[in-house]
Order: sequence, then C-alpha cells, then structure tokens
Amino acid sequence: LIVIKDLVKDYKLGEVLVHVLKGISFEIERGDFVSIMGPSGSGKSTLMNILGCLDKPTRGTYTLDGINVGELDRDHLAEIRSNKIGFVFQQFNLLARTSAVENVELPLMYTEAPAPQRRERAMKALHAVGLEGREEHQPSQLSGGQQQRVAIARSLVNDPGIILADEPTGALDSRTSVEIMAIFQRLNREDGITLIVVTHDPDVASYSNRILHFKDGRLHQDELVAKPREARTDLESLPVETAEE
Ligand code: ATP
Ligand code: MG
Repeated sequence: LIVIKDLVKDYKLGEVLVHVLKGISFEIERGDFVSIMGPSGSGKSTLMNILGCLDKPTRGTYTLDGINVGELDRDHLAEIRSNKIGFVFQQFNLLARTSAVENVELPLMYTEAPAPQRRERAMKALHAVGLEGREEHQPSQLSGGQQQRVAIARSLVNDPGIILADEPTGALDSRTSVEIMAIFQRLNREDGITLIVVTHDPDVASYSNRILHFKDGRLHQDELVAKPREARTDLESLPVETAEE
C-alpha cells in the first residue's frame, strides 16, 4: 500500500538547511496497524505530513497504491487527500460553535454529494464511533474523548483506506486513550482500515501490530508486535472515572 524509499526531507531556515529525515525506507501493507514512536524532534510529524500528501519529500520516493506521489500536481494531491486518507490530530481541530454532525460533514463539502446524503453519511460516521445522541452538541459541550471521537468520525466520512493520527491520545487521560484505541482497533480489524498512529506512549503503541522507532531522522528499529494488546479487554478491567450520561 505504502512504499517509502530513501526518503529525505530538508527544511531551509534562512541560510541553514535543517536535515529532518535522513534517508528512510519502509513499507506498510494494507490492513497494517502501525505506531510511530521517537523522541521529540525526530521527524515524526514531518513524516506524517508527507504520508498525508500535505508536504513533499526533498528526495526519495513515496508510492501510495502504486502511484508515485512525488510526481503529482496539487489537484491530484488534494484528490488523494480527500479520497484515500483521513486525519486525526492531538488537539481534535474541530470548529467551535459548530455542531458535531456539521463538523463531520465538512470534508464532504467539496464533494458532489447532495445535502441530505452528506447528513446521512455524517450521522453514520458519528454512530460508528458511539456518539448517538450527541449529533447536535458543539465541541465545548463534549468531553475530550467525545471531541476526539467526532474528529475520528470526520476522518471516516470519506471512507478512507488509511487513517493518519498524530498523537491522537496526547490530550486525553489514560482510560479515554484506551477507548480511542479500542475504536481504532475495531476500524482496523472490522473495516480493514490501515492505521498509522504517532504516539509518545508505549501503552498506546502496544495496541498496534508494528512499531516503527525513529531517532534523529532515521528509522532506528522496525518492531513487530507478536501479540498486540486488546483495548476492549483492557477497558473492562479499568475503573470508570467519570459517568458517561
Ligand atoms: P514532536 O514529538 O515534538 O511532535 P516530531 O518528531 O513530530 O516531534 P517534527 O515536527 O517532525 O518532529 O520536527 C522535526 C524537526 O524538523 C524539528 O527540528 C523541527 O524544528 C523541524 N521542522 C519541522 N517543520 C519545519 C518547518 N516547516 N520549517 C523548518 N523546520 C521544521
Ligand atoms: Mg510531532
């Protein structure tokens, strides 16, 4: 699905070239659930931006679904972003004073889908992350975990094959983090969505099938997780910190 070969990313800061990614190669198969770990500044978000077609490599190739992304023009990149890839961020990035269902509908604004169909798809995505009854709530009326679930619904609404999540549990407590990982595990196993999740938290990474460890702009270790932890099982044994209703 994803083939990264000899990928280099430099940033120009005034006169100085900053070498952020220093020649990285790896492949990700369809249906993989991959965590990306590494110290702050090791280039994780830079890599995610390239994988998400938000930024281009300086050198090396990125092939997605057999397409050499480096050769595409802006319109085609935008098309790939909206058709194949969903994004989830640490700070949720929801629009304030906008209801959950309207937030989820946003990516569909650029499609030809008529309004009733957009609404129906947004509702379905919200229900897929367990937010029945919260459709009209605004972000400020939702907990952090619920806001992140709205963001996941938004990332799902275009039916992407891949979800890229940069520190999706970074702003959440540990129980809520496991809830979010349970959703990701289900999307990966039941819907076959390929997941790539950046995290600082080894517990969060232990729910994935594979961990790519980055260090100083290089792939330091490619670790296969023989027996990923089960988020649903873990949830059952965790104390409930806050009442849901
Ligand atoms: P963190 O764990 O703190 O999020 P990270 O691994 O995601 O770190 P990146 O955000 O990828 O790290 O940044 C890697 C390096 O690239 C940093 O030294 C950063 O200063 C530099 N960098 C990132 N974006 C730019 C940019 N647009 N222009 C110049 N330098 C940049
Ligand atoms: Mg980062």
